[in-house]
Amino acid sequence: MTARTLALAALPLLLSTAAIAASPRPPALAEVADRALEDDKLAWDFVEGITTEVGPRQAGTEAEARGRAWAVKWLKANGLAKIAIEPYQMPTWVRGEERAEIVAPYAQPLRITALGTSASTGPDGLTAEVVYFPSYAALEAAPAGSLAGKIAFISHDMKPTQDGSGYGFAGPARWTGAALAASKGAVATVIRSIGTENHRTPHTGGTTFPEGVARTPAGALSNPDADNLERMFARAGGQPITMKLVLTPRDLGRTESGNVVGEITGRDPKLAPVLLACHLDSWDLGTGAIDDGAGCGIAAAAAKHVAKAGPPLRTVRVLFAGAEETGLWGSKAYAAAHKGMPIYAGLESDFGADRIWRLDTNFTKTDPALYKQLAQAVARFGVAPSQEVAGGGADLNLARESGAAILDLQQDGTRYFDLHHTPDDTLDKIDPAALRQNVAVWTQVVGILANRAEPIEKGETGARR
Ligand code: ZN
Ligand code: ZN
Repeated sequence: MTARTLALAALPLLLSTAAIAASPRPPALAEVADRALEDDKLAWDFVEGITTEVGPRQAGTEAEARGRAWAVKWLKANGLAKIAIEPYQMPTWVRGEERAEIVAPYAQPLRITALGTSASTGPDGLTAEVVYFPSYAALEAAPAGSLAGKIAFISHDMKPTQDGSGYGFAGPARWTGAALAASKGAVATVIRSIGTENHRTPHTGGTTFPEGVARTPAGALSNPDADNLERMFARAGGQPITMKLVLTPRDLGRTESGNVVGEITGRDPKLAPVLLACHLDSWDLGTGAIDDGAGCGIAAAAAKHVAKAGPPLRTVRVLFAGAEETGLWGSKAYAAAHKGMPIYAGLESDFGADRIWRLDTNFTKTDPALYKQLAQAVARFGVAPSQEVAGGGADLNLARESGAAILDLQQDGTRYFDLHHTPDDTLDKIDPAALRQNVAVWTQVVGILANRAEPIEKGETGARR
């Protein structure tokens, strides 16, 4: 090669270097995601701010309304577009006094919290014999009418699992145990907390009474108190165990709740958007840090970071749903209000703030090229591929109904149910490095989706998370 041909060969390189120097281009998406892993501050700022300035945000209450106002201010300060509150009405339930004590034969107080939609015992409480069921299946097997005048105690225990599947096995004791016991005559139900730690912090959460089953008082004992009550049955030698229960929650009737939305508007706003969901409400016992302040911080931070790589092709819309905890009211209202609006892909963050370890989608088999692209892009963050079929989070009703692609960026849930729905759901439980890993993975995945024009070949969608 002569000096002249060498110079000619180097010319395009020199020209392109000069062009880059003349007009600085935004960093590539992968670089933005890598930076988020190192130094994202947005997600932390969101969850630190809302837990500090607002705290618990129970659905339908003025505290949830303050949470919406706070979130709107945050989204504005961070430059999102089309920020709005979309209000709806919902039935609202609030906690009252809550006490339980064993009256005989081993008199002592127990730690309890009411389950959402529990009826009130009245201020004087109720006293009745307790019937012990070691599992939900044991309660199912109890004969009709056999619980007349009794308090059912369902002590179905839960084990921690990385994928949260223990919740599916133990959850029915809380979700429908009280209604099942009531249908057999029980005057009240107490359950072992659906939780995996051994602190005296009972776990609240919703319970459901179907049409035609009268609501009864229902509460959850902390795990050590449930252990204690089990030991009492072992020692009592068949003599009746009597409990006094005081739960005085109230129904406030229909009150206003709302969803908060905002977006990074895409270069082609006519294309179906990518929907990033979380829920803004929380139970009242903690400050709603891991459930689900962190999720909203992750989703909003990812939307912001995606835009740093240049305006995305598709709009990235953020949905901070209201009133998830008490019956998915926000998700249902959003789906009704935007019925028919196509969604390209939906993702939700609502499983704490620990690191993402697995990528599930509803197109893993049907659009293997896209799945492979995404899986390869997040491998460097320690995320494994999987064949599990994504079902999407609770606030993605619209995405599921519109037949969107669904992705579950699965977080490690090993310690999630130590904290879930307890007074211990507070900011200090969030590991800032794990939170940044979430933001980095979300940024990478959302950025790829939002810059893709082609349709996604979807398969079946899995069960809702
Ligand atoms: Zn949640
Ligand atoms: Zn929750």
